[in-house]
Amino acid sequence: MTTSDSKKNTGPLVAGVDLGGTAVNSTLLDSAGTFLISGLCEHPARSVEGPTICLQQIVDGLHEAVTKAGRNREEIAAIGLDTPGPATADGVFSSRGSTNFVHPDWAGFDIRGGLEKILGVPVHYLNDGNAAAVWGHTTIFGNQPNKTSVSAIIGTGLGGGIIHKGTVVAGSRGFGGELGHVLIPTESLTAMLPELAGYTAHCNCGRDGDLESLCSLTAIRTNLLPHYLQKHSDHPLASLDPAKAAIQVRGLAAGGDDMCQSIFQAQARALGLFFDQMINVFDPDALIIGGGAIETEETFQDWFVTEVRKGMPSQREEQISIPIKIMPNGDTAGARGAAIEAQRTLVSKP
Ligand SMILES: [Zn+2]
Repeated sequence: MTTSDSKKNTGPLVAGVDLGGTAVNSTLLDSAGTFLISGLCEHPARSVEGPTICLQQIVDGLHEAVTKAGRNREEIAAIGLDTPGPATADGVFSSRGSTNFVHPDWAGFDIRGGLEKILGVPVHYLNDGNAAAVWGHTTIFGNQPNKTSVSAIIGTGLGGGIIHKGTVVAGSRGFGGELGHVLIPTESLTAMLPELAGYTAHCNCGRDGDLESLCSLTAIRTNLLPHYLQKHSDHPLASLDPAKAAIQVRGLAAGGDDMCQSIFQAQARALGLFFDQMINVFDPDALIIGGGAIETEETFQDWFVTEVRKGMPSQREEQISIPIKIMPNGDTAGARGAAIEAQRTLVSKP
């Protein structure tokens, strides 16, 4: 099926490529399931210069990865590629453009097909949230079949993904697992946290009160921080530019700052309400939290998970023990998840 047939003696490699707006992160997975790159292998993406230059950056990034691992590019039998959307399930960007890919040539561009053409090996595409979800799921369940998980990735926005019985729910149009735009019952949230009364939660997607408008760095900057600073006008963050202030909230919360802890408590409780919806839809084996927001000390992670649980209504006795896990190595999640999925779908097929 692939050019890997002649390489069976050494075992084919699968590359994972996580393309963001500014950087491309590459990894290599061998046939035994071992990642040959220990951390990030990052290369500039130059996506603002359009697809032709950016695709060459991906190729150069892969060259760096194989050099780092002491292998050859000819050993790569397949590639897993993930990007932020909006894109179809097969990696064709929206004709209306994308926040991360602003050059006009990206509109309607088939990045999966484009990369496959240049490299001459099969390329499997996932959106970035789904790729990270594959990584999170695999770190917990390995190759066990029939496991179901829901991953929420808290970053600039809120991405994520659902793995149902070992299969990514990519959706018919590529929008499966767009968890950030699921509406959260705000009356339940304000009943728990009365200080949120009067809170306005606008999301870029046009909805008010969805998960991303409550639980993301953007939510902190545009919604949560302004709301809390109304009542804490003497707080040191009040004098800073909102974007600079927002990225300090997590560190201050971990250090015990009351207002910043309240902001993270609000995010956690909203995530708890969301997870409750997912429990009732999927009855999953695990709920997973990833992303920059919780790439921090274990004590803060434990506190956050406890607050997520406090946000969940009472569960049925059979579902009380569904674990909430923190995704490890979150900065490598996209590339690794994309590689794992490509190996499953392109290389390991009977
Ligand atoms: Zn939204």
